[in-house]
Amino acid sequence: MIQSTLTHLECGMCGATYDAHQLINLCPACARPLLARYDLNRAAQTLTPTALGERVASMWRYAEVLPVQDLGALVDLGEGWTPLLRVPRLAAALGMDQVYVKDESLNPTGSFKARGMAAAINRARELGATALAVPSAGNAAGAMSAYAAAIGLPAHVFMPNDVPACFRAECAALGAEVTLVNGLINDCGVKVREGAAIHGWFDVSTLKEPYRVEGKKTMGYELAEQLNWRLPDLILYPTGGGTGLIGMWKAFDELEQMGLIGSERPRMISVQAAGCAPIVRAFEAGDEHAQLWEGAYTLADGLRVPVAVGDFLILRAVRASGGTALAIDDATMLAATRKLGALSGIFAAPEGGACLAALEHLIDQGAVGRDETVVIFNTGSGAKYAHLFA
Ligand SMILES: *Cc1c(COP(=O)(O)O)cnc(C)c1O
Repeated sequence: MIQSTLTHLECGMCGATYDAHQLINLCPACARPLLARYDLNRAAQTLTPTALGERVASMWRYAEVLPVQDLGALVDLGEGWTPLLRVPRLAAALGMDQVYVKDESLNPTGSFKARGMAAAINRARELGATALAVPSAGNAAGAMSAYAAAIGLPAHVFMPNDVPACFRAECAALGAEVTLVNGLINDCGVKVREGAAIHGWFDVSTLKEPYRVEGKKTMGYELAEQLNWRLPDLILYPTGGGTGLIGMWKAFDELEQMGLIGSERPRMISVQAAGCAPIVRAFEAGDEHAQLWEGAYTLADGLRVPVAVGDFLILRAVRASGGTALAIDDATMLAATRKLGALSGIFAAPEGGACLAALEHLIDQGAVGRDETVVIFNTGSGAKYAHLFA
């Protein structure tokens, strides 16, 4: 019998521990993200390479290290287990031997936000949530709307009023209540907190509840499994709130504790937009936390996150990995998105294009060896950003 081995929650900042069987947002002591902990010795008894060979082709193949307790009641839309694509023409153009694209555009709702929301919303329902709310400038809203609809919980979405029509339309079509806010994502966050206080909505903002990061960490499990239990040398990750980067770094630790990989780690490259690069600035300054980025602007909606509650976790992972943080301007990002498309057949989100631009920059600097294994994350579908490419 496959069963979650969740044991408790632990604050990523102050280390305080909490019972995992309660609806909870940030650490009550220090208002920083809570991370899920598991009995990994027990998980390792059933989560084996052989057992995985027989399992469902979704992220729920790793159920031992996911939070949902009653797998019989799980509602999924087929999230995860996306392909790790070899892109030989792109690799040749870059002068590299082994370039892969982890193509997250093939998730439900066209982005990897599906992974996080699938985990968070199934778990929230299990713990008694009766309505959900999220601030989002794009894909998170669509994914929340989809899982709320599938599971049957009311969904309240708060979006900046300049969000592309497609993102808004998706939420409306999925039955969510959409409110447009004159401001940025952090202003939307204020509205969500107000509504949560008044109406009892559960706030599923990124890293402000413990389980979106658990859904997104499955990208790390998949990379290891798809590369036959070896990790790549380099991962390029487009960083907004940093959930996926933090999640994968956590996944690698768990995999090592379960004996599935060794102590080697990829260099983690955090890629941001030049118009909103708080993590890059903090990385370069050697700071533990990132300051709010004033006047944040980029066409890559997933990267328009001026302040991240998990900033210190992103920065720790990038530094511990020997990686770096790079900012790419919008024009370069869009050109790279077209190049990725024309040389691989993947219609990527601009966030994916940003990762290719960052890789080219690192290659120019001589920071990547020809024979190194490189994974570019394409985190969403270009179709939702068609207005940028017409
Ligand atoms: C949300 C989003 C990101 C940023 O993801 P984080 O894990 O929160 O940093 C990147 N790309 C796309 C397409 C997104 O929707």
